[in-house]
Amino acid sequence: MFHINDHFLKLPGSYLFAEIARRIREYQAAHPDADLIRLGIGDVTQPLVPAVIDAMHEAVDEMGKRETFRGYGPDFGYDFLVNAIREWDYEKRGISLAYDEVFVSDGAKCDVGNIQELFSDDAVIAVTDPVYPVYVDSNAMAGRAGNYKGDRWDRLVYLPCNAENGFVPALPEQKVDVLYLCYPNNPTGTVLTKEQLKVFVDWARENQALIIYDAAYRAYITTEGIPASIYEVEGAREVAIECNSFSKTAGFTGTRCAYTVIPHEVRGLSSTGEKVELNALWKRRMATKFNGVSYPVQRGAAAVYTEEGQKQIREVIAGYMENARIIREGLEARGFTVFGGKDAPYIWMKVPSGMDSWAFFDKLLDEAHVVGTPGAGFGPSGEGYFRLTAFNTREKTLEAVSRFERLKL
Ligand code: PLP
Repeated sequence: MFHINDHFLKLPGSYLFAEIARRIREYQAAHPDADLIRLGIGDVTQPLVPAVIDAMHEAVDEMGKRETFRGYGPDFGYDFLVNAIREWDYEKRGISLAYDEVFVSDGAKCDVGNIQELFSDDAVIAVTDPVYPVYVDSNAMAGRAGNYKGDRWDRLVYLPCNAENGFVPALPEQKVDVLYLCYPNNPTGTVLTKEQLKVFVDWARENQALIIYDAAYRAYITTEGIPASIYEVEGAREVAIECNSFSKTAGFTGTRCAYTVIPHEVRGLSSTGEKVELNALWKRRMATKFNGVSYPVQRGAAAVYTEEGQKQIREVIAGYMENARIIREGLEARGFTVFGGKDAPYIWMKVPSGMDSWAFFDKLLDEAHVVGTPGAGFGPSGEGYFRLTAFNTREKTLEAVSRFERLKL
């Protein structure tokens, strides 16, 4: 009989959101009248903005005419989108990217999950903790995380982020090859200043390590001076690749478009000691395994980079951030300790003492009919915390916050 990849068997339990969905399903089956408010999964709720819809309609019409029909697109994205990304997300910030350093894809999840294919099996991986689970699980599936013992993988390096260190991770103490950073952070909603990010860029340069910078929430930054791209930090082009997405920026979670930047300077060592551009390896991988994002979707994404598109997505984001403020201030007023929610659509609250985060999940579900995400699902340092998201409507968000009164603490 054929053999399977045993590393899959080491993955603990079900994927976090599958477990949450299971608990909600069971609760709803037992309490069919419960009116649940979901401040859990990080999915957007507002529709695509008119500029995007108009561009997609036009593109669909083009696909219906022989003269303008398009078949397979370029593997790395259409010129019009790649150039719009370069101009609007980078040149406007004084960052210059070559045309072939931008790779359009169907998701940041896919990119941050697939990028590990380019690393050797024995590469040492570090993650901030708590962490977006995809970085961990994708490396675990490839055998790079070792074995899962207790609440952690024994070959992964965890950099704790908690209230005590102000959610600023310390540098790894051991040799690390690849470090995943995500700012604005999911799940904590916290950010790094340029100076704090520079510490990591300098470390990576000194240690010839790679940083995978996930900037999926960059559009939510409101604080002046917080970097929206790691390339705002000097020297980052040598050591960092950056993943971005239209999912949270422009409501594309169900439409699918994202991009990853891999500067030519980023190089890794082959087993024969040759320095190889990661950019070339990713090109090879994408050309082999990916067929590009559909034309209408790329047209929709490009419409984000127009004056009208920008104005419209900013209004939507402002609405979500108003929800974040409602949650942050509402919970603080009720005596809870909360973090994040200023430059990210996530609020990271401390669980009332004496309870673990899954127990708080069940309590909030049962007593307030509010769904959140237990911090423990994001890694060992997430225990004792709970994530709430700003993606529901203003009315539901206000109602959810007021329901915290119902908790019997
Ligand atoms: N990166 C982070 C940190 C996320 O939280 C998410 C989605 O929740 C993603 C990436 C996924 O983005 P996409 O929808 O582009 O796959």
